[in-house]
Amino acid sequence: MITGKNYIGNKLSALGSVSHKTFNPKLNIENEVEFYEATTEEVDQAVKLAHQAFKEYRNISGAKRAEFLNAIADEILALDDQLIQSYTSETGLPEGRAIGERGRTIGQLRSFAKLISTDEWRENNIDTADLERSPVPKPDIRKTNIPLGPVVVFAASNFPLAYSTAGGDTASALASGSPVIVKSHSMHSGTGELVASAIIKAAEKTGMPNGVFSNITGSGRVVGTALVKHPKVKAVGFTGSISGGRALFDLAANREEPIPVFAEMGSINPVIITPGAIAQRADEITTAYANSITMGTGQFCTNPGLILTIDNENTSNFIKDLAKKSTAIAPQCMLHPNIKRDFVKNRENVSSQSGVEVIASLTQEIEPNYAPTQVSAVSGTDFLINPEMHQEVFGPFSLVVRCKDEAQLIEIINSLEGQLTGTILAEKTEYQDLEDVTDALQNRVGRVILNGVPTGVEVCPSMTHGGPYPASSDSRFSAVGTNAIRRWVRPFSYQDWPNELLPDALKNENPLGILRLINGKYTDSKI
Ligand code: NAP
Repeated sequence: MITGKNYIGNKLSALGSVSHKTFNPKLNIENEVEFYEATTEEVDQAVKLAHQAFKEYRNISGAKRAEFLNAIADEILALDDQLIQSYTSETGLPEGRAIGERGRTIGQLRSFAKLISTDEWRENNIDTADLERSPVPKPDIRKTNIPLGPVVVFAASNFPLAYSTAGGDTASALASGSPVIVKSHSMHSGTGELVASAIIKAAEKTGMPNGVFSNITGSGRVVGTALVKHPKVKAVGFTGSISGGRALFDLAANREEPIPVFAEMGSINPVIITPGAIAQRADEITTAYANSITMGTGQFCTNPGLILTIDNENTSNFIKDLAKKSTAIAPQCMLHPNIKRDFVKNRENVSSQSGVEVIASLTQEIEPNYAPTQVSAVSGTDFLINPEMHQEVFGPFSLVVRCKDEAQLIEIINSLEGQLTGTILAEKTEYQDLEDVTDALQNRVGRVILNGVPTGVEVCPSMTHGGPYPASSDSRFSAVGTNAIRRWVRPFSYQDWPNELLPDALKNENPLGILRLINGKYTDSKI
């Protein structure tokens, strides 16, 4: 049952009087439950409990924490239809998407559980002593990675499960040994509360300390600001707008003790389509990209918002075909009236810039919160001089740029802000000519894709979901895949520590049987 209350550790709490309701964008009505926003006192209680829980949780074995993560996955599945109904009623997204995203969330939890079942992920290094070294003997130094402490996670509006309450940020932080306080997203507070109840049940069943997880409701920035400013919070995970992520980053940097903010923000994901690819398979490409532009109503951080072509006799038909196919796909509901409002405003802003031509825009009468898809085009010269066109339009929209030649294409790539992805569509015969384009892209993006679409982010250890600012606030880390755990730990070294007092991962006899870097060589042998 959804109560509208906060979880402060294991207890439901509603001390405040400010409340909000979520919105069903499909029916264009408010949902019934009222959600009580956390008071300053409740925020403080949640963080203090997390701080207290950290003392115990950080020392709980990887195998026990893995049990906890697997139990969360089981409890989420046990929510069954109740969760799916809440998800669809708060987002306008279809049931199939809800079920798919739940599967992804469960998969992420289980992959982190598997990762931490041994301590190999801590990247343990051992440099043994050399007492004979001259002029000074070399000490024995052993390094591992340890958790940072309480992490605040901001749930994302566009992934109510996979990037929210028990999403990638929460799963990776809990896996690392850090307690988590989630700032629930006000657009799907009910879904957030249900998932929070599953986490709390799992924590109780597996004997985790009270405070290892809290779920805080709030809208209007007050609660998020209080959480980031709290002195006992040690790191922040965020997915959302550039303005939101940047505000939280600045807030964290200005604390007396600055803390890291791992924010995944805006991206227009440039797609480069070569003349050869257009000449050989325009039909296949326009079909795939019409689907990619409109997938999830364009509300994906990897949406292909910018398509770069080199102008020739085939370009006009290619653009017209892409626009026709994109607008022929039935319009879908957006997450919330405010997201639709921002989509229309930002789309109008880009499309009204000098030189931009709207190629096709859905004009038929549609339901209030449904998104009218649009494809526009502009010359490379106009695009280069106007940064307004470089901004993210969150929704089913793409701007096609007609570059005059490869030199201008590269100049455009170099002029872009940091991006999550860059895609190249090219024929095999053109591969040897792609070096300069690839080089320029590598400098701007976190992941390059060849002959595919940027939407659809595989969850695996080799995935990089991040990129130079503003795609993310720290391009050294990924928000997706098991490497995301590295955001919540810090290196820690033991010097000349007695073997029996070292953690198992660093002991001479290697009781965990894991791979370690010993005197510069990866090995699972004993010392
Ligand atoms: P958002 O406005 O950035 O909000 C995300 C979360 O951060 C919310 O919980 C919000 O709290 C909090 N927040 C934002 N600014 C804050 C501030 N200055 N201080 C404290 N907390 C703050 O994102 P959104 O609500 O998900 O969507 C708004 C727009 O962001 C979309 O229209 C889209 O343009 C963009 N967006 C982009 C992506 C992407 O992947 N690229 C994903 C989602 C959204 P409150 O609820 O209290 O406001």
